[in-house]
Amino acid sequence: MLTGAEEESNNDSLISKESVNKIVPRSKKRRFGPLKVANQIPKSRRLEIEKGLEKSSKLSNKWTRKVGVKTHNFLRKRIKPGEIRTIPFNLLDVKIGDSWPINVTVLHGVRPGPIVTLLGAIHGDELVGPLALTYLSGPNFLGEGNALDPSMMSGTVRIISVLNLPGYRRQSRYFPDGRDLNRFFPGSYDSNTTSRVAHRIWSKLISGSDYVIDLHAAAKGRTNIPQIRVNLAHSPSNFTARSFGIETILDTKGPRGSLRRTANQEDIACITYEGGGSDEADPESVQVAMYGILNVLRSLRMIPGYPSRPRFRLLATGSDWIRSDQGGLLDVLAPAGSYVEEGEIVATVTDPYDPGTSHDIISPKQGLLISTATSPFVTSGTPIGNLLPVKRGVNTLMDRLDEEGCLIISGSDGDPPWRDDDDIEDISVAGEWSGGSPDAEWGLSNDKMLQEEEDS
Ligand SMILES: [Zn+2]
Repeated sequence: MLTGAEEESNNDSLISKESVNKIVPRSKKRRFGPLKVANQIPKSRRLEIEKGLEKSSKLSNKWTRKVGVKTHNFLRKRIKPGEIRTIPFNLLDVKIGDSWPINVTVLHGVRPGPIVTLLGAIHGDELVGPLALTYLSGPNFLGEGNALDPSMMSGTVRIISVLNLPGYRRQSRYFPDGRDLNRFFPGSYDSNTTSRVAHRIWSKLISGSDYVIDLHAAAKGRTNIPQIRVNLAHSPSNFTARSFGIETILDTKGPRGSLRRTANQEDIACITYEGGGSDEADPESVQVAMYGILNVLRSLRMIPGYPSRPRFRLLATGSDWIRSDQGGLLDVLAPAGSYVEEGEIVATVTDPYDPGTSHDIISPKQGLLISTATSPFVTSGTPIGNLLPVKRGVNTLMDRLDEEGCLIISGSDGDPPWRDDDDIEDISVAGEWSGGSPDAEWGLSNDKMLQEEEDS
């Protein structure tokens, strides 16, 4: 099939030279196409999203070439246009004791543009973010002639590969005081340790940003397929989520105190990327994270090149938990990313105390398993999978399954050809976030119980 451009040039060749001057020039493509809302998203949510997209954001028309590029002032350092600097930042403001220094890599472009902050390891045991950001700050991606070359760039990129360094060193999700940093934003300067750190991160690193991409992996005991979580009713976040270029987008506001929810309240675009599990370096999730970040920077016209687009997107307003009704040892038959039919056996449970018997766990609906348990130890009620109940667009989805019936995620199999945003099929996945939000943890550690007590 011919693309629009090819058809046009073929028509051109048939037109005589005399009439060329009369041809009305093709209208210039809009810099950012209008955002669409899939028409099958539940009506109430669709209206909310449409209302959100109508609101003009402070981000629109902020950067023009007339503004000229200035020195970027960050943490009392002056970064010149075209410069890359690594700047230390203390998570705690103390004169004695450990101030928990981390590093921020700043790339300041030669043209005006947005400030994009990339974050890894808000949860110290989630290593996909640190790996993706470490590669992007390495010699293959950063510097002259590479994808992230400040002398070719508009705007500013700040990269923080490991935000929760104390947790990372202890291979723990939490801060040393047992709290979850991603539940304490915007924080407070005189409250508990984690809240103080959140306050410094919020006021020094985040509040000046225009776009934030927060990289995560699933909490202990499960794994996620690469997916974006975003509040689709926040217009610049909606744009960022679509720009990332992958198939699965969950429409959630994020937990109370999370960086994403707090950023959106201040009209800062923020998306959460989820891929793989904690304590593991899932290469596919790392690759898709890097691919998505470059896609966003290209979509924002900060770096050269066209963004890649997926063939379709699942815009999900709900998911279903599949739980075990028995206790024992779990064997997951349908890995994360599987398309499953209603009634399909997705896992079995056996019990060492009662050998010879086993229990099948059945998928209640057809859909895409976006997360599965990795810990074999289950009791009655343990979630073993999170299912997006896909009813529409099933054929489109099935066209992108591999031999094992798993979705081939854009960016995991090399760059797909550039695709116009209008050519992507938006498939809505209706439902409720029943039985807990997808952000909820599956198991409660002692640390977590402490934090939940404080929350209530
Ligand atoms: Zn996380």
